[in-house]
Amino acid sequence: MPFDCAQGYGLDVTRQTNSMITKIEHIGIAVKNLNSSNELFKKLFGKEHYKIEAVESEGVSTSFFMLGETKIELLEATNEASSIAKFIEKKGEGIHHIAYAVDNIEQEMERLKTEGFELIHAQPKDGADNKRICFLHPKSTNGVLVELCEEKR
Ligand code: ZN
Repeated sequence: MPFDCAQGYGLDVTRQTNSMITKIEHIGIAVKNLNSSNELFKKLFGKEHYKIEAVESEGVSTSFFMLGETKIELLEATNEASSIAKFIEKKGEGIHHIAYAVDNIEQEMERLKTEGFELIHAQPKDGADNKRICFLHPKSTNGVLVELCEEKR
């Protein structure tokens, strides 16, 4: 009788197949001044950002650096009500969120809700860099703000 690998090691294959987070899409870093941080990260990476984009609804201006399959997103607040302004006031500059790529954001939001994670938004919304996004509350993810993002088709 052939040895069934998955069963032999007690792996729950069904559960793994259902996971649709495919990679780290980007890491978001809160900065006070986008221009000076663009210069700093240009020196660090030895290359230029590939875009600057404002997201009015979030009160942020963003810039993106491509590093292989992953990106670094710098975020500067454009008004005092912005979540980035509040974050910097409380914690200072630094890593703000980790964004994971998903193939189907509605399906993944539903799966994570069922798993007990707290979603900040009930519906996906428009994010920077041609994405539909949703955030998970950091209190349900060990203090790390998690963003899900799906490439707009
Ligand atoms: Zn982001």
